[in-house]
Order: sequence, then C-alpha cells, then structure tokens
Amino acid sequence: MTTKTVADSQSKSLQSKLNAAIASRASLEEDFKAQSSLLIEFINKLSQVSKGINLKLDNRLAQLRGLLTKSAPISDIELKISEVSKLLQTHSVTNEQNIAHLHEQFNSAGQSLQKINGLPDDLRRNLRALLTETKTTKDSLIQYVPLLSQLLGFYDTSLRAKVDIPKGGLLPASQQPHEEEKALNDNNTSNVNSALIEQVSMCLSKLPLSAHHTKELLAINKKLLKDTSNDDVLQHFIEIFDVIVADLQNERDSAKNFLHSLSETLTTVQSAVKKTLSTCENAQSTNDEINEKLQDQLLEMTGTVKKALSLEQVKVDINSKLNTIALTLEEKTTFEQKNQQALASQLHDMAKKVDKLEEQSRQFEEKLAEQQRKSMQDALTKLSNRAAFDECFTQSMVRFHHKPFDLSLVVIDIDDFKNINDTYGHTAGDKTLQVIANTIQKKVSKDAFVARYGGEEFVIIYSQSKEAALIKELNLINKSIARLPFKFKSNKVSITLSMGATHIRVEDNIHTAFERADEAMYKAKAQGKNQVIYS
Ligand code: GH3
Ligand code: MG
Ligand code: MG
Repeated sequence: MTTKTVADSQSKSLQSKLNAAIASRASLEEDFKAQSSLLIEFINKLSQVSKGINLKLDNRLAQLRGLLTKSAPISDIELKISEVSKLLQTHSVTNEQNIAHLHEQFNSAGQSLQKINGLPDDLRRNLRALLTETKTTKDSLIQYVPLLSQLLGFYDTSLRAKVDIPKGGLLPASQQPHEEEKALNDNNTSNVNSALIEQVSMCLSKLPLSAHHTKELLAINKKLLKDTSNDDVLQHFIEIFDVIVADLQNERDSAKNFLHSLSETLTTVQSAVKKTLSTCENAQSTNDEINEKLQDQLLEMTGTVKKALSLEQVKVDINSKLNTIALTLEEKTTFEQKNQQALASQLHDMAKKVDKLEEQSRQFEEKLAEQQRKSMQDALTKLSNRAAFDECFTQSMVRFHHKPFDLSLVVIDIDDFKNINDTYGHTAGDKTLQVIANTIQKKVSKDAFVARYGGEEFVIIYSQSKEAALIKELNLINKSIARLPFKFKSNKVSITLSMGATHIRVEDNIHTAFERADEAMYKAKAQGKNQVIYS
C-alpha cells in the first residue's frame, strides 16, 4: 500500500465519521427543538392557568417564554426558572391562606342562610348536606367553585321565596299572591326595612287621635306590616300623614268653633249687661221724673192748704190733688212692674246664655281630659303607656324618698315573642299582646300599677307588697299566662314570661332601681326563661 492510498482511506473514514457526527447532531437538535417546544407549550399553559393570580408571576413566565422561544443561553433560562419557582412557592402559601379564608366565608354564609326563618324544607335539607360536606377544608380553591355555585343557587332560591319577609310568606293560601303578581312585585320590590316599620307602627299606636281616625290608622298600620315593597310602604306613610293631618285639622276646627261660640256668647252677654244698665238708667230717670212730679203735687197740696180760704175748698182741692197723686202713684207702680218684667226677662236671657257657655266649657274640659287620658294610654292593650309609667314611678320614688315604704318594681318580657310574629303573623302577635295585657291586669293586686313599657315588655309598680308575697303573686301571674289556651292555625301554643323584680332601696334613684329589675329579668332569660328572678 502506498502512502497515498493509506491517506485516502483515512480521509474516507474521517469523512464518514464526520457525516455520522453531523447526522447525530441534527437528530440531537431536532430532539432539543421538540423538547423545547414542549416546554414552551407547557409554560404557555402554566401561564394561562396562573394568569391573574400574581402579576409578578405573570411577568416572569412571559419572560421565560421569551427566553425559550429565542433559544437564549441556558444560564439565563436557569435564572428565570429559579425566580419563577420562588414565586410559585410564595404563591402556594398565599393559596393556603386563601383556601382557609374562603372556607370560613363559605361556612359562615351557609350558616347565616340556615338561620333564616321560613326556608323551604328541601332547600334546608340540601343546605345542611352541603355544609356537612364542606366541614373539612378542601385542598384547592378550585374545589370550592362547584360548592360556591351550589350555595349561590340556595341563596337565589331563598331570595325568590322571599323567606326574609315572613308577612307575605305567611299569608293563608287564599291570600297568597299569584305567580304573575309575584313576578310583577319582584320588579319594584327592594328589601323593606322591617325594623323601621315596626318602630313606626309602635309610634302610631301611641298617637292620641279621635276614635274615627285611630280606626283608620290601625287599618293602614295593618297594611303597612304586610307590605313587601318600598313603594307600598311609601304610599302607606303618605296615607298615615293624611290621617294625622285630618285629625289635627278636626281638632283645630273644633277648638276654633268653641272659641268662636265662646266669643259670640260673651258679646251677647256684654250687650245684654249694657242694655240692662241703660234700662236701669232710663228707669232711674223716669223714676226721678215721677218722684219729682209727686213732690210737686205734694207741695202744691201744701200750698193749697195754706192758701185755702175754707175747709170745704180744702176738701175739694185736696180730693182732686189726692186723685192726681193716686194716678201718679199708679203710673209709678205700672212703670216699676213693667221695668221689673223687662229686667227679669233680660236676666233670664242672660242666665240662659251663661248656662250655654257653661255647657260648652264643660264639653271642652271633658274633651281635654279624654285627650289627656288617651295620651297616657297604650292604644293596643289599653294599659297605661310608658309616659304614664314614668310619671307614676317618679311620683312613687318621690314619696318613697320622703318616707320609705314597700315600693317594688317588676320588669316583664314575653318569651320568644318574635317566633309568634314570624310564624303566625303580626296580627296574631298583636292579639296575643292584648290577651296577655288583659290577663296581667286581671291577676295583679288591686293597688298595683301595670303599664306596657314598649314592644312585648310590661312593668308593674307595687306599693305595699313584701318580697315573699310579691314573688308568689308574680309566679301565679306567670302560671295563668302559661295556661292561656292560645291557638294559632290550629296549633296550641303556650306563652311564658320572664320577670325581674326588686324592692326600691334608700340609695336608689329611678335609673338604678329600673336597671336592677331589668337585669334580674335578663337573668331570668339567661337561666332558661319562664321564671321570676328577685334581686
Ligand atoms: P326573648 O325570649 O329573648 O325575649 O325573645 P323574643 O323573641 O321575645 O325577643 P326579641 O326582642 O328578639 O323580639 C321581640 C319581638 O316583639 C320583636 C317584635 O317583632 C315583637 N313586637 C314588639 N312590639 C310588637 C307589637 O306591638 N306587635 C307585635 N305583633 N309584635 C311586636
Ligand atoms: Mg324584649
Ligand atoms: Mg321577648
């Protein structure tokens, strides 16, 4: 073999090795390309999934995508990957916190919904199941999505059923609005502030209006408590104002009428007095004239006697003069009689007018007294109201501080009364309040003062009961109430009271005494209700 031949064969073998190396590099490059496009695709998907969770992470992932697409040096890519991985680590901590927070919110929203009265039965069941299922925390936020959507569905259903507005929901079937009406109502229905309406309704019951207007007001009040839309409520507020204005107008008119007739009568009396005075003056001057005439006639008679020449002449003259005097006297008597009659009839007229005036004053006084009584009375239960209680308790405290006696105060609150309203409606609640008020009033000792303090709370002031007798009487009252056969929608319901009682002490003022009784009442509630606590 020549040297050339050896060189040729070596060059060939080298050529083929080079070709093999180029082919394998090409296949390596293809592999790399395939892998890096897989990686880019993965990073793309990861970016999409995590988009919006964290702005920094979004940016870093975009930069990583850029580096990979332009096949940047591996050191740059490594740096970016490490930044992304750190951010992902922080994110996983935040994620845990978010899961815990969402879990808590989810459960509290579910429990709030559970507390709402009047939820449809199947909704209540499903909600309970959902809350049991979500008792334990889930691993990822995504797992909450279907659960949240379920809970939202429950909220939606309960809103549609208007469960938070029991008045409409509790109407008897015959009075329930039709589906079309419901749909119409839904358009202008916003959440009516029922606490506010109750306050308004309570204030209305305290207004001392005329019987006629009170009746109108009670009718509007009833409608108001059933209202479910703000529009209806506003309309009824306007009606209420109209009634109050009409009553005030009546009141003003009647006062105006009275004052008008009073002033008329006074004017008549005044002119009658004037007339009587002038009649008296006239009579006086007529009388004076007659007296003067008589005087003259007497003087003339004396003159006649003096001038007379004979007894016979005197006799004749005196006779004629006496006749004249007799006529004048007769005239005087007739005049006086007439005058007296005129005076008597004028006095009679005057007396009649004064009588009328007295009658009008009496009516006005009665009306004022009636108004005063009404302003101290609770319109619903007819018991004394809060203002009357304040007055009575203040007076009793003044007497007590002047000279201590067995003065005691009792605060009473009906147990679970909201349930009655919520389950059977406000009208049933009102009726119940009336029956309970009546029973308390009937059962207390004669000297006790009972008042409706407000809402479903009553107060009693005793002025001569010792502790043991007081507690005994209060327990008897509570038993009588519990035994009352209340029946709502054919359900027998027993109603009980919680009472707090105390005797007033020398160091007490109105507030400390009331607070002690009130606290005792709350203690009775806390210890299970339906009992009397003496403090
Ligand atoms: P507790 O045993 O703790 O006293 O519970 P409760 O439900 O009686 O007490 P709460 O104070 O929660 O509710 C009192 C309710 O009394 C609220 C209100 O609807 C009702 N109420 C107050 N005044 C009237 C009223 O004049 N008429 C009617 N029907 N209900 C009234
Ligand atoms: Mg109360
Ligand atoms: Mg109560």
